[in-house]
Parts: sequence; structure tokens; C-alpha cells
Amino acid sequence: MLWKGRRQSENVEDERGQGGGFGGGGLGRGGGFRIPIGGATGGGGLSGIIILVVLFFALRACGIDPMAILAGGDGSVPGGGGQISQTEPKSNDEMKQFVSTVLAETEDVWSGIFQAEGLKYEEPTMVLFSGQTRSACGFASAASGPFYCPGDRKVYIDLAFYDQLDRQFGASGDFAQAYVLAHEVGHHVQNLTGILPKFNQMRQQMGEAQANQMSTRVELQADCFAGIWGHFTAQKGLLEQGDLEEALNAAQQIGDDTLQRKTQGYVVPESFNHGTSAQRVTWFNRGFQSGKLADCDTFNNPV
Ligand SMILES: [Zn+2]
Repeated sequence: MLWKGRRQSENVEDERGQGGGFGGGGLGRGGGFRIPIGGATGGGGLSGIIILVVLFFALRACGIDPMAILAGGDGSVPGGGGQISQTEPKSNDEMKQFVSTVLAETEDVWSGIFQAEGLKYEEPTMVLFSGQTRSACGFASAASGPFYCPGDRKVYIDLAFYDQLDRQFGASGDFAQAYVLAHEVGHHVQNLTGILPKFNQMRQQMGEAQANQMSTRVELQADCFAGIWGHFTAQKGLLEQGDLEEALNAAQQIGDDTLQRKTQGYVVPESFNHGTSAQRVTWFNRGFQSGKLADCDTFNNPV
């Protein structure tokens, strides 16, 4: 991706190096990330359950969450998995410049799309953290993977995730990394358009299987939105040869079925909540090819 020298977003909070000190009881413990396997949540009392449901939603609707499965169900303290090596925080390293540029590109694309609809795009903030962080959705660790929190309208990402995306998931390349960020921004778009709040409300009346199906539709739409971003990025001439393939490969590698096959050796379709590899590739590609919101209606079309 030809990103160097382009505008970098100012909506970036760099919290790297400030992590630590959150001893546990974080999101990873709430059961949210481990629902695909177990589903048990701790805590007591109705208000506790409601809070967990909200957290659960925030997490499930967010992020690629492949770590949810990788982390297993051991209930370990967030960040304790040791799977992600800490990056050395630097104030303005190339990786930060890259994600800040991608974020700026998403701002430009979505501002244009919203404007065409007579709407104003409110830009999200991107938080870079290392190790663990605190969001309006609760504590999160690097093991959570990148996620979007509707409560504070921020995208959270530990840049070390990108190493893992490459080494463990076999998804390398800058455009694969851009896709991950564009997917999270896709959740922000869903938040602005009311999809996320509606899902949050509806899922409280749903059983687990139904909620997983709905979550899949939310996630696939975020993939499609990432594709729309890719469409306009390509139109600007910023894509290099192989970039589209990098994004499609990433979508392939983080599909629920592929992840489950890799990590547990078998697949449990009822537990899918982000979409299969084929579905993720299809919906990213659909957005990429068309560039139109109308082609990302994962709720009124078969997925
Ligand atoms: Zn997502």
C-alpha cells in the first residue's frame, strides 16, 4: 500500500508503555472472549449479569477476536498468555505512522460517504496500547485482539497484534493490517448508523445460537465496510500489486472455521460468531468491488 507521505490522523491516543497495573478481573475474565468455547460467565446478581451482557456485546461485536479462541478457556489474567511480545513503545515509529495514515484514509472515505447521504461522519479515536488498557467497555488485554468499544467510540489496538497476525495466522502484508483496522472502523460506522445499538438491544432477548448468527451478520457487514474502504483506496491508486490478495488472505485466515480447525482441530458451526472464511472473503470482496453501502446489507440477504 502506498501510504507514506499521506495525511496522518490526529485522532490517535498513544498509550503504549502505560500498560500494567491492572491485575485481573478484566474483560478476559468476564467470559466474553471465551464464549465461543465455554460461555460461562461469573459474577452475581441481575445488575452484574446486565453489565456482563453489555461487555459481552461490546466485545463480541468488536474486534477480530481470534485470540478468544487461541487463548483457550483457562481464565488466565488478561495479558498473561504471553503470546504477544511487547513492542518497544516509540513516540512516532513507522507502525504508528502507518495506522495513523490508514485511519486518516478511513476518515476521508467515510466522511465522503456520509456527506453524500446528507450526514456528518463523526470520527472515531484510535488508541494504541501495549499489554493492557482500559476502555469504556472495561479492561482489555493485548490477548483480546483489536476491538471497537461503542461506549467511547474508540478503536483499540496493540500493534504487537500485527506480528501475531503474520506469524500465527499467516496473514502478512500492510494491506492485511489495514483491513483489520478498517474492519474496526466498520464497527464504528455501524455504531453511528444505529446497527450496533440495535443489536445490543436485541441480543438480550436472544438465545446463544441466535445471537451468534446475528453477531456473524454484524461482523460480515464490518468486513464489507472494510471492503468499501478498500474500494476507494484502490480508486485513489494507493494499492500495490498483491494488496487485495493480502486482505482476502487475512479474511480467509481469521474465519471462524479456519481458526477453530487450527486451534481445536474441529469446527462447531453453532459457535461461529464472525463468519466462516468463505463468508468473510465474500463480504470483504463485495464491498471492495462495489463501494456501495447498499451492497453491504448482511441483515436482509443470505450470508
Ligand atoms: Zn468485528
